[in-house]
Amino acid sequence: MVLDHGKESAAEKLAKAESPIYDPSLCKRPFVYDAKRRYALLVVDMLNDFITGAIKCERMIPKISHVSHVVDAARQAGVPVIYSNDAHRRSDFELYRWLPHAMQGTWGGEVIKELTPKNGKDHLVPKRSYSSFYETDLDHILRGLYDEEGANTLLLAGLHADCCVRHTAADAFFRRYEVVVVEDAVESFTEAQLRIGIEYVRYWYLADAISSKEAARLVQGIRLVH
Ligand code: ZN
Repeated sequence: MVLDHGKESAAEKLAKAESPIYDPSLCKRPFVYDAKRRYALLVVDMLNDFITGAIKCERMIPKISHVSHVVDAARQAGVPVIYSNDAHRRSDFELYRWLPHAMQGTWGGEVIKELTPKNGKDHLVPKRSYSSFYETDLDHILRGLYDEEGANTLLLAGLHADCCVRHTAADAFFRRYEVVVVEDAVESFTEAQLRIGIEYVRYWYLADAISSKEAARLVQGIRLVH
């Protein structure tokens, strides 16, 4: 018998690749869910180019129903739904990093048909870089919600966990919003990137990560047991 020294099994490789860099056991407990939560659901970059187009992430396809489950629950509960959408112009610096994608006014920059925003009800926030807050109206919109009391807790769904979701979570933290990542309603190009994205925001921004079923219950006023 020849021993296969130095070779890892596929399972060992996978276990290594999926080891979280940000150990979840080191994450601080997130905020306290209390009666003062005023939620807003942020759907990030669920656009044609991001799912099936220029920079497609087909790993997201099976999760579209998870996003729509939370969107439906939010709408039913009267929780504001905000779409944060890339709307690039040729001069955008980000396009030196990426292929042209989600260009303003194109099919690639439209929200996928499964998640079509409700006209006159949902909010649309065009953006030109990773963070949903950067040079956008998002903060202004959030502060105007709930009769000007403002939303104070953001639920994040969409793409990518380790890029626009992560940068949005950072800017939310800087502005004192609490953040919940809907972990089965976000994705990235690889499993490792997905896990790193989620654990990073849990570690650094006191974010919580919950399932779409839990998120649907949360927006409907059902307290979660943590
Ligand atoms: Zn972009």
